[in-house]
Amino acid sequence: MIEIRQLSKRYPGKGKTEGLLALDRIDLHIEAGEIYGIIGHSGAGKSTLLRTMNLLERPTEGSIQVAGIELTQLNKKELQQQRSKIGMIFQHFNLLSSATVYDNIAFPLQLVNTPKHKVDAKVNELIRLVGLEAHRDKYPAQLSGGQKQRVGIARALANDPKVLLCDEATSALDPQTTQSILSLLLQINKQFGITIVLITHEMHVIQTICDRVAVIHGGRIVEQGKVVDVFLKP
Ligand code: ADP
Ligand code: ADP
Repeated sequence: MIEIRQLSKRYPGKGKTEGLLALDRIDLHIEAGEIYGIIGHSGAGKSTLLRTMNLLERPTEGSIQVAGIELTQLNKKELQQQRSKIGMIFQHFNLLSSATVYDNIAFPLQLVNTPKHKVDAKVNELIRLVGLEAHRDKYPAQLSGGQKQRVGIARALANDPKVLLCDEATSALDPQTTQSILSLLLQINKQFGITIVLITHEMHVIQTICDRVAVIHGGRIVEQGKVVDVFLKP
């Protein structure tokens, strides 16, 4: 589902100085239907790597294919179309504060000109999926962190993505809420076969739901494999 080859990213430096090499020749192969974790310390390059997977960050070198499509070759319109098939959720949820739960989830559907009756049916289905039936007309400020992330997840699923990218999605949540969000992600993975890629600095997140993991350090993958092999070795 995701095929990354020799991917490097150098951020521009100031003036004539050479910029920082945030990703250094990354190779990564993620299967359809897999939950893949990327773990590393702060500054390791996790977020940069995740953001290349929908080209929010453009690599300096290398190739990145999602569902058979080479992202670096797409024009603006093609990229927009491809991005609607790649959902993303964030540590700080990134919801529209002046829009209700319903309108936050409807937004990505309206962006691609979905007819109103279809928007309504889909948003209601998603609200049920994430268990926010009692909160549909509330604003983000009236919700708990876990509820906000449920809105984020519903919004990310609105256009039936093949891939869900999770950027430290539980790092702002308490342990119990983290557990419930991870359960929801697992349910979504099983129910729809969506490939999930998550970045985290927390080992237990990886151990709770990931099939495979890559350890990133200084922009390089230093280890990768099945979670049991990477983390439970004697
Ligand atoms: P940081 O300097 O980012 O705080 P650490 O000091 O904890 O990271 O890392 C110490 C060393 O361990 C580094 O040299 C790093 O290359 C290495 N390292 C970290 N994680 C792994 C790993 N999973 N496998 C192999 N080496 C690792
Ligand atoms: P992580 O997600 O593992 O914390 P990041 O991908 O955010 O790591 O950052 C990797 C490295 O790239 C860090 O040294 C960070 O300071 C640097 N970096 C991140 N974003 C930018 C940017 N926009 N411009 C310059 N350097 C950046």
